[in-house]
Amino acid sequence: MDLELSPEDQKFRQEVREFLSTHLTDTLRVGQLRTTAMYPDPDVSGPWQHLLNQRGWLVPLWPVEWGGTGWTAFQRFIFETECALAGAPLVHPMGVRLVGPVLLKFGTDAQKREHLPRILSGQDYWCQGFSEPNAGSDLAALQLRADRDGEDYVLNGSKIWTTHAHFANRMFALVRTSNAGRRQDGISFLLIDMSLPGVGVRPIHTIGGDHDVNEVHFDNVRVPVSQRVGEENAGWEYAKYLLEFERGAGIFSPRLRSQLKRVASVLPSTGSGDGLLHKAFGDLNADLDAFEWLEARSMASLAPGSSPGPVASVLKLRASRLKQAIGALGQRALGRSGLRWHSESPFSDATQPQNMSLVPEYCNSRAFTIFGGAAEIQLGLIAKSYA
Ligand SMILES: Cc1cc2nc3c(=O)[nH]c(=O)nc-3n(C[C@H](O)[C@H](O)[C@H](O)COP(=O)(O)OP(=O)(O)OC[C@H]3O[C@@H](n4cnc5c(N)ncnc54)[C@H](O)[C@@H]3O)c2cc1C
Repeated sequence: MDLELSPEDQKFRQEVREFLSTHLTDTLRVGQLRTTAMYPDPDVSGPWQHLLNQRGWLVPLWPVEWGGTGWTAFQRFIFETECALAGAPLVHPMGVRLVGPVLLKFGTDAQKREHLPRILSGQDYWCQGFSEPNAGSDLAALQLRADRDGEDYVLNGSKIWTTHAHFANRMFALVRTSNAGRRQDGISFLLIDMSLPGVGVRPIHTIGGDHDVNEVHFDNVRVPVSQRVGEENAGWEYAKYLLEFERGAGIFSPRLRSQLKRVASVLPSTGSGDGLLHKAFGDLNADLDAFEWLEARSMASLAPGSSPGPVASVLKLRASRLKQAIGALGQRALGRSGLRWHSESPFSDATQPQNMSLVPEYCNSRAFTIFGGAAEIQLGLIAKSYA
């Protein structure tokens, strides 16, 4: 997408470029390039997050008084685009983009003072405890019990698919505090210290070859009532607010654009006879152009402190399908050599995009139409909200 930049935005873009050329090291770039799962591990995202925080650029969506940048939506788009083009690591979203906005809107002053500075400094690394073995798409079926005992809740049960729980020292979780009435009306939103006695984390290895997700078990874990966000049994409201950020507050198109560029580098030259590949590439380019406009437009209406609304589902669905389609085109273009795994790469410099194996990324991208609410669930939400 070619955009006319105002002189002010050109100056801003220049500032971002200078920051990137000074601070983005090759180690960080290669760390991101080698990340085939959703998010880089904390040894890659952590140092980058620290640099952004020092510069005051870590939490564009937060109000300025809590560390927000005060950028316009378009400046945020410029920032994300430049970061993607330069190959900067993705920031781990659980603290800055998910629980942060929930605390800002629904947390007490004491909770904000306790948790927000530690998200910014990176002292706390958060994970999301929503899904359970029998509660994924049907999240309201969740059963992790939190029984009140004096000034504590006592937790028993388990969570599953918890991304980076093995790194996290904090979890925000949905727990069942009542079985009366509608299922949604018995859920509370808790902040949990992962080092508490009775918390156990077990790895799940995925087809992409990564250890990204986990099971988390709770055996009589005592969580202070002061770590509940908002009202008891009103957690469903806060979760819906958070999910809008999970689905619609990221900026996906610049990263999809760089992925498409990497695929372009492995396409056979035009005139080599495989016109279908070039047609598919053209179609994807056009789809991505349309997605960029949609994303830019919806972002323009996302002021700090507001949530994305139902368009979040459209963005999540389109971004995840594009991600998979681009990966699939890369595989087709590489043909048999596309079946190579990283470790078997015969290339001397596996950090060069054209030399990278696309298989782990392709396998991992299956997850994009599942996490954050499966594609079918997004379609249902879209149908409801636009009916
Ligand atoms: C890589 C990865 C990371 C994840 N990270 C986290 C995390 O950090 N924290 C967390 O809490 N969760 C996480 N999840 C879990 C994720 O949110 C769930 O997997 C997702 O909500 C789907 O739930 P499920 O796996 O139980 O599948 P199910 O709900 O059993 O769905 C199975 C299939 O049935 C379809 N289906 C279900 N209901 C309907 C319906 N009503 N109409 C039409 N089709 C339907 C689904 O679309 C899907 O195709 C992660 C998942 C993955 C894959």
